[in-house]
Amino acid sequence: MSTKKLYYEDSYLKEFNATIKDVLDDDKIILDQTAFYPGGGGQPSDTGLIKIKNHLIRVIKTGYLDNNDRIFHQIDPVNISSEMKILLASGNAIKGTIDWTRRYAFMRYHTTLHILSAVMVKHFNAPTTGGQMYENKARMEFEIAKLDSDTAKQIEELVNQEMKKNAPVKTYFITRDELEHHPELIRTKKNIIPPHVKKIRVVEIEGIDVQADGGLHVKNTKEIEEIRIVKRENRGKGHKRIYIKFVSDL
Ligand SMILES: [Zn+2]
Repeated sequence: MSTKKLYYEDSYLKEFNATIKDVLDDDKIILDQTAFYPGGGGQPSDTGLIKIKNHLIRVIKTGYLDNNDRIFHQIDPVNISSEMKILLASGNAIKGTIDWTRRYAFMRYHTTLHILSAVMVKHFNAPTTGGQMYENKARMEFEIAKLDSDTAKQIEELVNQEMKKNAPVKTYFITRDELEHHPELIRTKKNIIPPHVKKIRVVEIEGIDVQADGGLHVKNTKEIEEIRIVKRENRGKGHKRIYIKFVSDL
């Protein structure tokens, strides 16, 4: 049985009710549905709490199992009493709460990285080769010959201009066949979507960027804020990495 992905129905869902379907290795809970994002595409997996009866259990990591079909919630084994262990059983009801401050930071940086990748392709013909979100910064890698401080300043201004457009962010699914007809939706250098994935999720920042993506985003670019490029790194021939921060994270 697969886990229902509540985070795709509503990326702002912070609390949810669910039923335990299985417990693996004594510390990985499988639920019938979850709002915990299992990580992927540079966005870290969610952490948070699971409440069973009156016991709170800390979720330290989440992830996919079985070709993304099921999602595990790895719990902190340190404070698990024998009473709690008994409650960790198939059929029991739980209430999940994700660490929202942390998740929302990832969502804001994720949308910003998509704007950045669009700016890099449009203005510098520089494809993205990788990216990672953190709670108070993000980084992205590009194929670009030169990235000096003037170029960085330009990139910063272009991203900040786009961000101010108050553009809605929409997500929808297309078939693999439709994707074959729109290769531009794959922003990474190679198509890394595994062949078993038949429904491809698309994230569109209206008028700014459209790409195939499994991550979670804000609803409108008005939820993000001005960025600063805080660091540049050489990553070998033709590859550059930049770190960005929102002004409030400086
Ligand atoms: Zn993404």
